[in-house]
Amino acid sequence: MGNSSTARALPINLFEPKSADNKERQSTLVKQTTLKTAVETSGTGLHTAVPVRIRLLPAPPDTGYVFRRTDLGGFEIPATVELVAHCGYATTLMRTGVMLSTVEHLLSALRGLGVDNAFIEVDNLEIPIMDGSAEAFAEMIEEAGVVTQPLARRALLVREKISYEQGERRISVEPADSYQIDCLIDFDHPLIGVQHRTVELANGNFSREIASARTFGFTNEIEALRRANLIRGGSLDNAIVLTPEGMLNESGLRFTDEFVRHKILDIIGDFALLGMPILGKVKAERSGHIMHAGLMAKLLRVRSAWDIVDMPVPATPPACLTLR
Ligand SMILES: [Zn+2]
Repeated sequence: MGNSSTARALPINLFEPKSADNKERQSTLVKQTTLKTAVETSGTGLHTAVPVRIRLLPAPPDTGYVFRRTDLGGFEIPATVELVAHCGYATTLMRTGVMLSTVEHLLSALRGLGVDNAFIEVDNLEIPIMDGSAEAFAEMIEEAGVVTQPLARRALLVREKISYEQGERRISVEPADSYQIDCLIDFDHPLIGVQHRTVELANGNFSREIASARTFGFTNEIEALRRANLIRGGSLDNAIVLTPEGMLNESGLRFTDEFVRHKILDIIGDFALLGMPILGKVKAERSGHIMHAGLMAKLLRVRSAWDIVDMPVPATPPACLTLR
């Protein structure tokens, strides 16, 4: 199998002596990564309420994220923009009639923790919701460990600002020298109101600031969602449930701005469908899955707005380095 040969190839490549020239070139590039070992967990689908088991496995360079429906003979569904099917309350992928729902929190953890390549085995049609955040997935990835691979990581370098708007909702991506997300939400609710936060996807910020922020919903929308056969697996264990005055969860919030942090989590997960990190700044106001999909489709259509480049090592040098 491809997996084992990749695993064997890695140590050889990492410790191979290199010429000075090669070493210099290599040191200015970030390498692709994958998981060191396979890890698994199980949970419940938020919308379908079915039990699901998932397994994350190492994958060769340039694989990206590829889901495998083990209940359908390993049918593969790559995580790409082209396969986004519908995405009102969760991001769903569909390939020749086979679907996989609620992929965004797991993809967010993979991108957020800097994993480029992974196979994801799933034995049902939805990724488990866990506690409504990406924390359990982040812990799995940390447990597995992340290893570098012999090829340079690729990034989508943004050259021109591209915007996508729908009424009051707005999302754009513009040039920047690192992957940044600037997000504003505005809900007429005493626990939310206007929340604004900017995160740079580097230096463990994802694990610290974003991974544990939970999804949220409003009690006055729950009946309609249930009638639409959605959130059948929803409970206080996997979402913040808001009443008109407050919240039903007795444990309270994990951050006072947990809501905007979760929106950033969703943005990172949806934009992971581009197949590589963005070298640019995403600015979102009142956005959601449909807006994210709309911006990605528009961005990819405007060919002059981006390039695919080898990812440079972050620009800020350690303080002790003297630059010539
Ligand atoms: Zn979410």
